[in-house]
Amino acid sequence: MTTSASDPPQAMGDTAYRTLLDEVGAFVYATDIRGNFTFANKLVLELLRPGLRLEEVIGKSFTDFVAIGEDDTLRETDRRVLEQGETIERVEANLIHATGETRYYWSTKKPLRDAGGAIVGMIGISHDITEKRRLEDQLIRQKNLLDTVLENLDALVYMKSADRRFVYANRQFASVFGLPLENILGRLDSELMPKDVADAFWAIDQQILASGQRYAGEQSLVDAQGRTRHYWSVVVPGTDTEGHTALIGLVTDITALHELQEELQQQARTDSLTGCANRRHFFELAGIEFTRSRRYGAPLSMIAIDIDHFKQINDRYGHPIGDVVLQDFVGCCRGILREMDILARTGGEEFCILLPDTNLEAAGEIAERIRAMTEACHPIEEYPSLQISASFGASTLESTDADFQTMFARADRALYQAKDRGRNCTALLSGS
Ligand code: GH3
Ligand code: MG
Ligand code: MG
Repeated sequence: MTTSASDPPQAMGDTAYRTLLDEVGAFVYATDIRGNFTFANKLVLELLRPGLRLEEVIGKSFTDFVAIGEDDTLRETDRRVLEQGETIERVEANLIHATGETRYYWSTKKPLRDAGGAIVGMIGISHDITEKRRLEDQLIRQKNLLDTVLENLDALVYMKSADRRFVYANRQFASVFGLPLENILGRLDSELMPKDVADAFWAIDQQILASGQRYAGEQSLVDAQGRTRHYWSVVVPGTDTEGHTALIGLVTDITALHELQEELQQQARTDSLTGCANRRHFFELAGIEFTRSRRYGAPLSMIAIDIDHFKQINDRYGHPIGDVVLQDFVGCCRGILREMDILARTGGEEFCILLPDTNLEAAGEIAERIRAMTEACHPIEEYPSLQISASFGASTLESTDADFQTMFARADRALYQAKDRGRNCTALLSGS
């Protein structure tokens, strides 16, 4: 038979309907008023028993093939459709005999009526949602796992959208700002921290968004209690739950580590007995000052100090008293020096003072003031007869000095001259 464009449209034949229902991708069936099959498509037949033909099913009920378990809701819903004429839409669970597995369906059941409106049966359409449910359950379990991890992690975690708003934050992150979580979500970074801090973070964020590269570095923030906290911050580009570009931040509080590091660095720079700079730190700072003075043509002087006959103090009063004398001497120097001057203990009873923006004559005057004060004071109350003196050698930066060491050696030579002259005096040495 041939058709032409002018032929009137033909209604689909039974075979075509059967094919359509077989290929619809859902379980389609119909029953009579007693709940016995009057039709079942290919998927239903396969479900009931592989290889089953439609003729073998007609007149039989669903429960002739499939166990429906303890609960009788399946029969109950069928009754509601067949007796009350209700349309039911619900999830159904069926135990499949062949595999012993329970599968889930989204089922719609509707009454079938004759021309007079009387219920004569039921039509059912079910979609297998077992896989969908499994994925949903898996997703829920994964989300619960993620929530547990994020809420118990010793780290601040956030997600920021490409328009600078926080779209996720864990409890730990919110606590830094002293705010409930609801007050963080949807807020701009600049609403939570000072604008300059937020802008600095945003500059980094923009680089990450532009490059797609992970960032890792140290960042500082003043928390809700006004304490400066230090963080190791890892920021990675990602997408939010809606699929929009976002930044994910994983931030570890390293304040304690940072403070420990600072303390260790401070200890490494400091003389533990007197609290002033140690020899190594003195030379570090002197190198910086040397370069600075050279660049700006500013004067720079120094004084080398050695306490006179200190061995005798130790011998007569004991080492601990000698220690107190050293501490007292440092206190005495500090009373005379300016904030910018650098006092260091460079040896046992040897000290150096670096004097920025000071010429040789002024350095000599400072040395003399310290010398006079040292000579005049009685550092230990219980021993009023204990008096000390010190010798001083001063030098200043000369245009011919190649490095700080040259200037230092000159101050040391000046100190020896002071010792040679009988101690308790100051010697100045200029020239190379
Ligand atoms: P001079 O006038 O020639 O400098 O004589 P001096 O006795 O000061 O010189 P010397 O270098 O012979 O002795 C330095 C002494 O300083 C020896 C050492 O026991 C003492 N000393 C070094 N470090 C410390 C310290 O930390 N505490 C105390 N109490 N004494 C120290
Ligand atoms: Mg000495
Ligand atoms: Mg000495």
